[in-house]
Amino acid sequence: MTHPTRTHADMTYADSVVELIGDTPLVRLNHVTDGLAVTVLVKLEYLNPGGSAKDRIAERIIDAAERSGQLEPGGTIIEPTSGNTGVGLALVALQRGYRSIFVVPDKVGQDKIDVLTAYGAEVVVTPTAVAPDSPESYYGVADRLVRETPGAYKPDQFSNQNGPRSHYETTGPEIWRDTAGRVTHFVAGVGTGGTITGAGRYLREVSGDTVRIIGADPEGSVYSGGTGRPYLVEGVGEDFWPGVYDPTVPHEVLAVSDADAFAMTRRLAREEGILVGGSSGMAVVAALRAAATLGPDAVVVVLLPDGGRGYLGKIFNDDWMQHHGFSQAAAGSAGAGTTV
Ligand code: PMP
Repeated sequence: MTHPTRTHADMTYADSVVELIGDTPLVRLNHVTDGLAVTVLVKLEYLNPGGSAKDRIAERIIDAAERSGQLEPGGTIIEPTSGNTGVGLALVALQRGYRSIFVVPDKVGQDKIDVLTAYGAEVVVTPTAVAPDSPESYYGVADRLVRETPGAYKPDQFSNQNGPRSHYETTGPEIWRDTAGRVTHFVAGVGTGGTITGAGRYLREVSGDTVRIIGADPEGSVYSGGTGRPYLVEGVGEDFWPGVYDPTVPHEVLAVSDADAFAMTRRLAREEGILVGGSSGMAVVAALRAAATLGPDAVVVVLLPDGGRGYLGKIFNDDWMQHHGFSQAAAGSAGAGTTV
């Protein structure tokens, strides 16, 4: 890790947690890859101080808003977010004296909401099952709060180009550096599309366009040709096309079912000791599908956006899994051959 730290009289430390954002490690998968010749490396974004890749965009978005004057001292940050962007924004905001309000759909787990309030943020919960242009949607409610709150600033992670830029400037270069330029495939889930657009664009450019960029998307979401029908995996997929997503960056986008994503999420914990969220399992399913035809020289890097502690009552809970129709076989120990 090469975080910027200060050395004062023989002590080495970061001046604040914000300095610890980024420079996350790669680790090889050893078990869920059984039978595959390729090297599959996962990038552990849960090791960011706020626990997800979203810390990266939060810092860059707030810095840019301060520079442009959109965010003034004492201002309020208001954002519709499923949680991780909120944590990133909250941890930067609290250090700089801003109030933060987050609007989340009701499919988001209580534990994620509790994390936001623990950071001192206010949370407004809205229904998931409404059209995105409805005033009741989490986008609609956030817009109303912005209109009603003096000094409000809405980062709008779906259109804010500082999001993909942060991944172009940090995530992509870290992967290139840590693989010594040997990465051949990059796989990431698509939510706003910022990660795959920024990191993917960097990796295509730096490699002379040899790195293959693969998106992973919940079945039903628009990125992989769906109509936007509901799915349970959180933080990825959309029912509209956000401005930060550049569809020319990924070479392909693979659709993954909730069942396959959740089964792999559980396997990553039990077989690899990597406790991550459902979008990470989803990305690994897509990566293993892509890896099935690759030879031993291939190096597949998969970005795992967040940790699993926010999903203990869901993906890792047998009753919740059964209630949602995921069989124990799918939930527990499905072999790679049956689900990927
Ligand atoms: N997984 C999780 C858990 C997320 O919160 C997000 C962000 N919405 C993503 C994946 C997707 O990242 P991006 O928005 O950069 O496409």
